[in-house]
Amino acid sequence: MTGRIIVTAQNGISIHYNGIRVDLDPARTSKADYKFISHAHIDHMKGTDASGNILASEETAFLAEKRGYSLKLAKEMPEDFRLIDSGHILGSRGLLIGRELFYTGDFAVRPRAFMAGCGPVECNTLVVESTFGRRDYIFPPVAETLEKVNQLISDLFSRGIPIVLMGYALGKAQILSYLFSSWDPIYVEKSVLTMNRAHIELGVDIRSDLKSYTAAKEEGLLQKKPWILITPMNSGRSRFVASLKKKYGAVTVAFSGWSVNPRYKYMMNVDHAFSLSDHCDFNDLVDMVRRCNPHKVYTVHGFAGEFASHLKSIGFDARPLKSGQTAISEFIFED
Ligand SMILES: [Zn+2]
Repeated sequence: MTGRIIVTAQNGISIHYNGIRVDLDPARTSKADYKFISHAHIDHMKGTDASGNILASEETAFLAEKRGYSLKLAKEMPEDFRLIDSGHILGSRGLLIGRELFYTGDFAVRPRAFMAGCGPVECNTLVVESTFGRRDYIFPPVAETLEKVNQLISDLFSRGIPIVLMGYALGKAQILSYLFSSWDPIYVEKSVLTMNRAHIELGVDIRSDLKSYTAAKEEGLLQKKPWILITPMNSGRSRFVASLKKKYGAVTVAFSGWSVNPRYKYMMNVDHAFSLSDHCDFNDLVDMVRRCNPHKVYTVHGFAGEFASHLKSIGFDARPLKSGQTAISEFIFED
């Protein structure tokens, strides 16, 4: 079915389609007919409430629950609506409305650990996340990073040096738990353990025998070096990480797409940084846009302006969609 679609930046992004309003990852409580929650990262769940009519995957609702957010899912999806695996974290989805519009939400195209990448979807209008939409954000292949990190761990272990692997608690920390599971012992910080267990409950093959950092500390296991500790992202200046360095001589490693920027390592005050990301790099983004082959592209988040300019230079009708945009008429179109 072809319907008139209007995209506006009101509360996050709103879509009006066949008389239905859908708010996409709303930033605050919303009165829309449906609220689409792409995934269970906290910054995407700010607009949730108990009124229901939430469009999200079952996994997102489950993970949200574990983080203290109740997502009351809509009993039925509106006609023409489909949730598309966006490959960002477990349960993450994009929203496809007929062939008219595809909203990617946060997405990644590269398969890594237990995650499959997001595939392209042909659509008239593409609303694409553009966190790393700047030319210099190019990530090495996942296998290359994996090899380097394993080499680093091997080197440190041979010298009895413990290592702290850091990535956000939901998503990256499970990928790290999975990718480096052949090493022993591995301890995990509490919030990582909670999310690891939630993944295991959802059928992901992560080791269930990883001990919590607190238990390892209480049992005096941290004195027995080396070990790996997986924690949420912390600055090397934080009291926690500083104490791990001081007490155990631990080496710190951060995993983030931002690490492409040479200043990142110093800003975070970590020993090593790798660009293992749950987002697309610049080339992935351009490739995705080409393969979706849209007539119109809206870029959101990160380098939205720069990415839209690049897309224009290669022939796409693209513009950034800024949250809080007042010139709504700018963003009205008809197919
Ligand atoms: Zn996210």
